[in-house]
Amino acid sequence: MMTEDLKEELVRLRRDIHMHPELGFQEHRTAGLVEGYLRELGIRTWRIGATGVVGEIDNGGERRIALRADMDALPIQEENPVPYASRNPGVMHACGHDAHTAMLLVAAKVLSGMEFEGKLRFIFQPAEEGLNGALEMIKGGALEGVDAIVGLHVWSQLPTGTFAIGDGPVMAAVDRFRISVRGNGGHGASPHETRDPVVCASHIVMALQTIVARNVDPLKSAVVTVGRISGGTAFNVIPDVVEMEGTVRTFEDEVHELVERRVKEIAGEVSSGLGCRAEVEYEHLNRATVNDPRLATIAREVASKIGRVTEEQRNMGGEDFSEYARLVPGVFAFLGVRNEEKGIVHPHHSPRFDVDEEALPLGVQFEVSMALRLLEEGF
Ligand SMILES: [Zn+2]
Ligand SMILES: [Zn+2]
Repeated sequence: MMTEDLKEELVRLRRDIHMHPELGFQEHRTAGLVEGYLRELGIRTWRIGATGVVGEIDNGGERRIALRADMDALPIQEENPVPYASRNPGVMHACGHDAHTAMLLVAAKVLSGMEFEGKLRFIFQPAEEGLNGALEMIKGGALEGVDAIVGLHVWSQLPTGTFAIGDGPVMAAVDRFRISVRGNGGHGASPHETRDPVVCASHIVMALQTIVARNVDPLKSAVVTVGRISGGTAFNVIPDVVEMEGTVRTFEDEVHELVERRVKEIAGEVSSGLGCRAEVEYEHLNRATVNDPRLATIAREVASKIGRVTEEQRNMGGEDFSEYARLVPGVFAFLGVRNEEKGIVHPHHSPRFDVDEEALPLGVQFEVSMALRLLEEGF
């Protein structure tokens, strides 16, 4: 399926996209490249928003299977000393979306030269990193008539040659909270005349840790992280307000609801116990990414003909593939791209992140085989 020429083209595409990274909803060059490549193959394309691209091969038949890639990069200055390093200062493909785009383009090329009955849709979405580009694509009709969707993410913790495909939730629901603790400031030497939001906020940070330790079922997973806290202007002044921000990560709905409720209760009641008042803003950013077990079983079968397969890869990161998989049966697979010998070991979102390009043809094979298998046999 993958000739040497095609492997070279795959690497060339990936490096081209890697050298020219673009932030979410600004993927103008990348979208143009994708559109041009698909059209050259004779694949009909259309845009959703300014930078979303959809391509479709329609060979009649009943079924329509979608394959999805994301195209956006991150606001990171690349530190890899490689010839294909980012040429766009402060912007880097540090999550592997360059690889996703290149693999899906080459998969489309392979599939466009094959005979099959059915419809294949290639979804190239913008803005996966925190901006929920998936939702924009769905609003623009990307999922209309789609029976199932397949997503693939390169994964730096897994060695090249390994796929990880789990059943049920594989990536977490992502929430953001902001807590403003309001007290009554004053002189640092006269705390008795104030209501100190610094001490109160400190208690809240500690008490939030009890949600995972004391409220969540020990056999389930959750994360509560306070990532930012700020307040005060001088060493001898008690401020009026302390603000903090944090994130909650969960897999199951009931854990999700429990943690949200406890964050609000703890912020409110610790504050009132200490004479302050808390305002809590709580947002749901991503839902959990949940694999359809039937599709996951098929995906493991398909992947086992290409490489090693494990089911053990859940993580607390977020992924807007969840938006598609909530509406149609979906499977989100991880493709190992770690290579210790080549020093490709840095985590996603690191300025040293890279992918072992040897893995990319395996990803293409997976996408091609999944598309054909789901069209032929259904699920
Ligand atoms: Zn990422
Ligand atoms: Zn990603």
